[in-house]
Amino acid sequence: MTAQEKNNFFGKIPPTYRILEIIKDAPWAKGSTHHKLVEAIHFVTNEIRQKHKTTETTEKEMTEKEMLEEQIIKALEKVISGQKTLNLRHVINATGIILHTNLGRAPLAKEASFAIEETSLGYCNLEMDLESGERFDRHSHVINILTNLTKAESALVVNNDAGAVLLILDTFAKGKEVIVSRGELIEIGGSFRLPEIMEKSSATLVEVGTTNRTYLSDYEDAITSNTALLFKAHTSNYSIIGFTSSPSPKELALLGKAKGVLTVYDMGNGLLMDLSCFGIEKEPIVEEQISLGMDLVAFSGDKLLGGPQAGIIAGKDFYIKKLAKNPLARALRPDKLHLAALETTLKYYEDERWKELPIYQMLSLKENVLKQKAKKLANDLHAAIGKYASVELWPGNSEVGGGTLPAITLPTWLVVVFPKTISVENLSQKLRLGTPSLVGRIIKDHLALDPRTIYKEDCSIITSLFLTAFENESTCRCISC
Ligand SMILES: *Cc1c(COP(=O)(O)O)cnc(C)c1O
Repeated sequence: MTAQEKNNFFGKIPPTYRILEIIKDAPWAKGSTHHKLVEAIHFVTNEIRQKHKTTETTEKEMTEKEMLEEQIIKALEKVISGQKTLNLRHVINATGIILHTNLGRAPLAKEASFAIEETSLGYCNLEMDLESGERFDRHSHVINILTNLTKAESALVVNNDAGAVLLILDTFAKGKEVIVSRGELIEIGGSFRLPEIMEKSSATLVEVGTTNRTYLSDYEDAITSNTALLFKAHTSNYSIIGFTSSPSPKELALLGKAKGVLTVYDMGNGLLMDLSCFGIEKEPIVEEQISLGMDLVAFSGDKLLGGPQAGIIAGKDFYIKKLAKNPLARALRPDKLHLAALETTLKYYEDERWKELPIYQMLSLKENVLKQKAKKLANDLHAAIGKYASVELWPGNSEVGGGTLPAITLPTWLVVVFPKTISVENLSQKLRLGTPSLVGRIIKDHLALDPRTIYKEDCSIITSLFLTAFENESTCRCISC
């Protein structure tokens, strides 16, 4: 489109005061503050401008004034209704942290979200065997697929991994002793502390070894007639390097068997596949740990498994049955939405398509692809907000996050924004409060955006979000202000 055509087009976008006048009686606009309305108008008109700047449109195809007005009002309704109704809403994750616990951990695969929609819009066979019409256990939907993938005898699903650990301790260790290495007394995300969970389940924690070295004999010496289980926890959010030692799960499993003590491995991250194809090695895989003889293995559904929040316990049938009979299992049971998403996610593994899960798509993004994506975003941002901020392209690192793979950093390219007119905190807050919300990394005087975790369809919105954030700061250009 020529410059003349562009000017004609932009001239057709009604001014803010005019749009405010049109929408003043619309039911969806009621209850929004003037400031919010103006902000939404700027967002929508900016987006339309951006779109028309980058697409080749002929004069003939260009929207007539009335149609454009209608288009703007429709988009506004969507933005404002979205703002008003939902506290929990879509966020563009520009932090580059793939499993960001504050942003909901693993994003689901499309098929998993469809499964949630299909089983929740209406009824589903959550606890009914469709063949016989009889009542049936909700876990049955995922037991076969879980045992196929982990090679365990049986499995059980609860609300999350913390719940899984609690259920195991409550079932087998109440009033008894649990032996744990001092190097594995983990805290995850501030609220899951192994010693505290032990206390809640009235188990007595028996610490053995030292922070960096624990031997099999330490466990062996600590076993008494009151020992319920040997507990191993994956040090999933930190790594101890250097002069270290801990018995292998196989040695622990053998010791447990010889002494008649249950062995449990809280693996946390729920890794089902070997990641050496991505250059990530030496991470324990669920199937392998079960084959080494651990009686029970517990892990999360929304970390490296890439599914919904869930706690999965896999292992010997005898113990799984006992867990299922504990009344606490009823209190911790998973709901239909989680089960629907979990079954669909596990199918990706069964069909050998697990690399298509969003977290593995993000994890495997190559540096040159990320550089291209970052370059495009940096150029668009520079063109749109050049007068308010300087925009640079920097090499950097992304993280897997979610308390997994702490030693792994993934090379990436960052779009770095130095705001000139407002502080970086102020800019970040405006972006967080935008619709949709955008969360980046605040580093001193700049905001960094990592394209690794930004969905393709969200890329085009980012410039409008920035423009809106800056412009609302400077002035509100409508008459009533
Ligand atoms: C993450 C993690 C937990 C907690 O899992 P949730 O699913 O968040 O409850 C427990 N143990 C380990 C080792 C973990 O990594």
